Amino acid sequence: RMAIKPAVPKGKQSHYDWFQTDSLVTIVIYTKQKDINLDSIIVDHQDNSFRAETVIKDYSYIMHVGLSHEVEEDFSVRVVENVGKIEIVLKKKETTSWKRLGHPLENHNSLIPRKDTGLYYRKCQLISKEGVTHDTKLFCLMLPPSAHLQVPIGQHVYLKLTITGTEIVKPYTPVSDFLLSEFKEPVLLNNKYIYFLIKIYPDGLFTPELDHLQIGDSVSLSNPEGNFKTSQFQELEDLFLLAAGTGFTPMVKILNYALTNKPSLRNLMFFNKTEDDIIWRSQLEKLAFKDKRFDVEFVLSAPTSEWNGKRGHISPALLSEFLKRSLDKSKVLICICGPTPFTEQGIRLLHELNFSKDEIHSFTA
Ligand code: FAD
Ligand code: NAD
Repeated sequence: RMAIKPAVPKGKQSHYDWFQTDSLVTIVIYTKQKDINLDSIIVDHQDNSFRAETVIKDYSYIMHVGLSHEVEEDFSVRVVENVGKIEIVLKKKETTSWKRLGHPLENHNSLIPRKDTGLYYRKCQLISKEGVTHDTKLFCLMLPPSAHLQVPIGQHVYLKLTITGTEIVKPYTPVSDFLLSEFKEPVLLNNKYIYFLIKIYPDGLFTPELDHLQIGDSVSLSNPEGNFKTSQFQELEDLFLLAAGTGFTPMVKILNYALTNKPSLRNLMFFNKTEDDIIWRSQLEKLAFKDKRFDVEFVLSAPTSEWNGKRGHISPALLSEFLKRSLDKSKVLICICGPTPFTEQGIRLLHELNFSKDEIHSFTA
């Protein structure tokens, strides 16, 4: 086994270094990027393998080693943002001096396109499951202490279960619980909990199995994926959200972000079949009541005769009524998510209304 020597820094190339005390091992990753934050780094420590993936734009810098000695399961991660430095502190199980950090494993010390990194999974525990509508539930998963991962706004992960000997994988978009907390100050959780709003399809492949899990059972969760960037909010004036069914999920964190940031308008048009299908209806209505800059409109495709609100599918008439700017030439962003035909039709109609590609963000896998 070869000892690992820190890579020689080449220009802007990321590299790492490590040092130790009697009880701690500190790994330092120099990304040479200023916009690195705790979202940018995914760390996993399983058995004696240690893997840290730092997302730098469309690339990942990976360090992946088989540690030479045992360490405790948990560790701490710290980011020094203005210099793009990441420090991961591991606790030694024994206070011996390490001669080397370990031996290189797959992709160690390399910068590879994000799309080529492959999905890396860790086992999470099901903490709670709560009904939201007649067929959607809020699932809370807990990351193991041996993992650090935060799902950025607008991104999704893959959940994996082994069903009768076959691995089944489906994408899901985490939500935040800000709509549930009665708008108190956000509770500082330790980022170990990840929430999902998931619709159970009785004849579906994955969701009935997920629904059958007991509290404490495990589900594998992948690294985040997706191309939404919060830089799309820069100088934004109007934010319009078009969601259908569970296509509401990416809008939750976006709305939360927009509430603490600039846009002067943040409007949601939420398409569902019936009133019973509307996710977090009263929470959204309360938010619209409390915050004058937020408005929500529910549109039903199969309402009962008592429904007084808007009806039908996405249409030019609904869109032109909804997309009222705060100013003539305001900077707008329209986010759209739902069943594929909904999203495709929506994008087509938005183009017909002269919104450009840059003004539309659609969520897809
Ligand atoms: P499936 O087996 O896929 O079946 C779903 C339904 O479609 C069933 O009613 C089934 O009978 C029907 N069906 C299956 N195949 C066909 C066919 N060929 N023709 C007609 N009907 C068919 N879902 C959420 O609930 N929450 C989320 O946060 C979420 N995030 C997502 C993020 C992304 C990026 C993407 C792409 C999807 C997301 N989804 C989300 C959807 C999710 O990935 C699954 O597609 C969904 O949970 C259904 O999975 P399933 O295996 O249970 O059902
Ligand atoms: P649903 O069947 O309850 O439909 C909700 C609404 O979508 C309908 O009321 C209607 O207004 C509209 N709609 C449905 N089919 C349409 C069609 N053919 N043309 C125009 N409009 C149509 O929706 P659901 O079961 O909650 O499904 C949500 C969909 O959103 C799923 O397909 C899921 O994969 C997708 N989704 C995608 C992401 C993502 O990030 N890409 C995230 C979450 C959900």
